[in-house]
Amino acid sequence: MRAVDLIRKKRDSGEHSREEIDFLISGYTRDEIPDYQMSAWLMAAWIRGLNGAEIASLTEAMLRSGEVISFPELPGKKVDKHSTGGVGDKTSLILAPIVAAGGLNVPMISGRGLGHTGGTLDKLEAIPGFNTALSLQQFRNVLGECGMALIGQTAEIAPADKKIYALRDVTSTVENIGLICASIMSKKMAEGIDALVLDVKTGSGAFMRKEEDSVRLAELMVETARRMGKKAVALITDMDQPLGCFAGHSNEVIESMEVLRGRGAADLRDLSIELSAWMFYLGERTKSVDEGRNLAEKLIASGEALTKFQQGIALQGGDARVVDNYALLPQAKNRKEVKSDSNGYLSATNCMQFGIALAMLGGGREKKEDTIDPGVGLEFHKRIGDRVARNESLVTIHYNSDAKLADAVALIENSFVFANQPAPAKKLVRRLVGA
Ligand code: URA
Repeated sequence: MRAVDLIRKKRDSGEHSREEIDFLISGYTRDEIPDYQMSAWLMAAWIRGLNGAEIASLTEAMLRSGEVISFPELPGKKVDKHSTGGVGDKTSLILAPIVAAGGLNVPMISGRGLGHTGGTLDKLEAIPGFNTALSLQQFRNVLGECGMALIGQTAEIAPADKKIYALRDVTSTVENIGLICASIMSKKMAEGIDALVLDVKTGSGAFMRKEEDSVRLAELMVETARRMGKKAVALITDMDQPLGCFAGHSNEVIESMEVLRGRGAADLRDLSIELSAWMFYLGERTKSVDEGRNLAEKLIASGEALTKFQQGIALQGGDARVVDNYALLPQAKNRKEVKSDSNGYLSATNCMQFGIALAMLGGGREKKEDTIDPGVGLEFHKRIGDRVARNESLVTIHYNSDAKLADAVALIENSFVFANQPAPAKKLVRRLVGA
């Protein structure tokens, strides 16, 4: 078999056999197939699509590229959550400590920034010293000690996704249902969990802009989890505007700690509680989702969730003093306001453009080798439905270099849509799949 023939086959709309997909994935994982051939195949798959059998083969091949962990030594259920990604989506930093403080285990394998969206690993690495590249043994130790551990894909766990994810980020091959399903489920099914909560975003800042596409992705992932013997549910949630008031790495760590202190933006707090509640319920810690919500709120109010976050930071080598001193996180030197040139009601945003603007300022990658500037960020002052006066600030940009500032400002300015009437409010959780 040759990679070049498989690229041509997919380019010409052919259907791959399981053996062909195994060949591509194992060859790429072992560095026998180079990045340029995998990039070409990913683009062909993006354009031509993958059918159900190909997606199942891809997910399983990517899962089998590494180990499937188990934790027989740990009492209690293991649960996790994964989001398909959005702008300002930082719920993992909030719900992992809530759920661990509630007595469940959260062995979380996350990703870096992908396309226009930020990644949990990059956010955690804004905390000085925080190590997201623990060895398997260190991962077990941290999980055993505090009930949560957050790492990236490694050479041992989901190595195929580690490489393919980084390549998709910089080759515009992200927004495809089959590639997303295989990426997410190959990581999550390697974690040795009992149950998985999926947060599938929909709207202008999501990879799936249309709700019906988000539902299709959710159904595919829930079905994949169940086929592999795991409990799973998916929440289809709003991404027509950023989640919370901040995007950017240090800013999002701070905003997460604010929610853990019982403060912070209402939408971010509500969604974090909702996802935690489902984790408690699927992990059999509570008898209902309602009881799960109450437990999550109690763990925030008592300070136990924040203490758990601090313990987790220290165990992964991070400077746990950041919890009480936000100034220890990297901050951008400069601020610029983006002001409204209209009067009216904010009726929609092109949310993806906020993520692209943030990447232009250094908060994302254009090439695999790029490093992230954790201090840059966007602070959003208006929500859909808010009244806005001419010259009011819509966004504060936190930046270090002005090399691409003008381009970023233009993108942000063009991302707001105004109307004369307030838009009807949309629900944060649009639907449940598999409940
Ligand atoms: N999250 C992932 O882990 N992979 C994707 O492809 C999209 C979101």
